[in-house]
Amino acid sequence: MRPAILNPLFAEVTDLKGVGPRLGKLFQKLCGSHVVDVLWHLPVDIIDRRFRPKVAEAPEGRIATLTVTVEQHQKPHNPRQPYRVRCRDATGVLFLVFFHVKGDWLERQLPIGATRIVSGKVERFNNQTQMTHPDHILDPAGLDAMRLIEPVYRLTAGLTLRIVQKAIEAALARAPQLIEWCDAELVRRRAWPTWREAIAAAHAPTRPEDLPPAHPARERLAYDELLANQLTITLLRARARKRAGRAISAAGELCARVERALPFTLTGAQRRALGEIAADMAQPSRMNRLLQGDVGSGKTVVALLAMCNVVEAGGQAALMAPTEILARQHYATLTLLAKESGIEIALLTGREKGRARTEFLEHLAAGAVQIAVGTHALFQDDVAFKDLALAVIDEQHRFGVEQRLQLAAKGKAVDILVMTATPIPRTLEMTAYGDLDSSRLDEKPAGRAKTTTSAVPVERIDEVIAAIRRALDKRAKIYWICPLIEDSADSDLQAAEARFSELFQTFGNRVGLVHGRMKGPERDRTMAEFANGGVDLLVATTVIEVGVDVTDATIMVIEHAERFGLAQLHQLRGRIGRGDQPSACLLLYATPLSETARQRLSILRETDDGFRIAEEDLRLRGAGEVLGTRQSGFEQFRLADLAAHADLIPVAREEARLALARDAELESPRGAALRTLLYLFERDAAVRYLRAG
Ligand code: ADP
Ligand code: MG
Repeated sequence: MRPAILNPLFAEVTDLKGVGPRLGKLFQKLCGSHVVDVLWHLPVDIIDRRFRPKVAEAPEGRIATLTVTVEQHQKPHNPRQPYRVRCRDATGVLFLVFFHVKGDWLERQLPIGATRIVSGKVERFNNQTQMTHPDHILDPAGLDAMRLIEPVYRLTAGLTLRIVQKAIEAALARAPQLIEWCDAELVRRRAWPTWREAIAAAHAPTRPEDLPPAHPARERLAYDELLANQLTITLLRARARKRAGRAISAAGELCARVERALPFTLTGAQRRALGEIAADMAQPSRMNRLLQGDVGSGKTVVALLAMCNVVEAGGQAALMAPTEILARQHYATLTLLAKESGIEIALLTGREKGRARTEFLEHLAAGAVQIAVGTHALFQDDVAFKDLALAVIDEQHRFGVEQRLQLAAKGKAVDILVMTATPIPRTLEMTAYGDLDSSRLDEKPAGRAKTTTSAVPVERIDEVIAAIRRALDKRAKIYWICPLIEDSADSDLQAAEARFSELFQTFGNRVGLVHGRMKGPERDRTMAEFANGGVDLLVATTVIEVGVDVTDATIMVIEHAERFGLAQLHQLRGRIGRGDQPSACLLLYATPLSETARQRLSILRETDDGFRIAEEDLRLRGAGEVLGTRQSGFEQFRLADLAAHADLIPVAREEARLALARDAELESPRGAALRTLLYLFERDAAVRYLRAG
């Protein structure tokens, strides 16, 4: 149960003075429906009222605080006219302007002859200096009560700044003193305030320097949130590990035999990943591992060798690909690499029908098929394994967590290996993927030639076409990638078709076209022509993004490169430079380039390291966008900024690990404080994993 001390924070916002049901709805829209949500709504700016000029010197458009004497009330003759109050100081006249005035409150607030301090935005109108609806009107004696510097908050229609400020003040008044949950040494070293002080300070910035994420109060709050996140993940992970799995016991003979027959030696990274995977599989608990590596880093081989262990132990393995092209390619690769081993590998996609399908199903159910390669077709109800022990899922983003579980349900305690060619930035990896361990292939196989990347404005397309002609004369194979148009596969297609017919006029039937709307066989035929000769210039939409392997393609033109994301450009580029020939990638862009587009293109020219590109992508886009926060189960942080607070994540991770190592059920006094933290950040579910939860 949530500790009672937190109850005031988990009351409805409407509990706060001045917030009724109508405002309550608006607050819910703005930040959430509980008092604590209001607290997490941190200021984005400040209003500085310290500027106190004379009336004649007050510049138009600036916030100023003026001391004036009230001279005259000019009441409106009809309700559409403003109510004006003439005031002055020694240097000039200031009109205070009000609309829709009801009753006599202005006469009470601004009696003739009185001195008043008014604060608001200075305006000039018809050569007169005025202030419309001043933010503050005070008796000079009350000046101390006015905040000369006010926090500014993000608002929503219907909520004024004043209302939000008042609600936050009321919420702050309820914020309790909480027992410190952070490591004392860390708090001392970073000179962090307590939680109570931090939340108060974060809402009381006095200088622009108090607003950025690096301010100690903000940093402390971000750390609290990250620590709650890391505790949750660590608990989840521990629980997942306890779930029964099965120990795959293989001596590794089959694996060694297949490895010996490979036409290359494994990279150090491949060997390391394989070791991590084999160790997981040997454990009696379930494997949930992510294998990350750039296109061409050799994930497929690692998967194959892992599957060999399962086969040797008498079980079955499945390899799932997101598209048919990829499934076929995996099937071809695996068959080739495992040729000498005698392993039975079979393929099932939507295109295997009738007899082929029935046969596949029979062999799978009988255990004759040892490795099943396929697409979503493997999920179908009538697909039954004899004994599925390992599921390898390629390209994480195309399959949801649901489907991962669906496939796992086709066996008993199935080990899961997810492969992705979109490296996930460390920070995201640590804050998401709670249930996955991770292996990284951060080393390219030897013997790969370099890819040079250059950015060319589209105005110079003629030069590009001339260069393509020269390359085609030398028998190069070239990809031409057509622009991505958001949410519109149709216009994608039109653009690709238009480009195709233009290039076709120039180069004739050496040009081919593939796109996502094509029927499987037709697309495969064109791809095969590109791989084997006939088609040398392949115009494509992003269907070729994932996995397609034509090792002797050496040139790629990406049209409207500015419209692609950084990670996607990197993925596309990974289609070339796969063989021993030097390759070239031309990023054609439309001018003018936005600043981030310019940065994206320049990062791509600079580096070919997918892990570094992933980090830069995060920096340029913000965490939410990187993988589409919602559908991929990534969580959003309210206080932590994953780019700005990245350095805090490993610290929080380590602290969570240590705290749980010392006190697995969070039962000590420190443990109790950490439980409070979990509740504060609404990780009630995590607390339930604890014995005394
Ligand atoms: P990924 O799946 O990560 O994109 P693949 O496993 O398809 O990469 O490997 C890409 C290519 O590199 C394949 O042709 C594969 O045979 C080859 N390859 C894999 N590992 C090595 C290695 N250690 N040395 C040389 N070539 C390798
Ligand atoms: Mg692959």
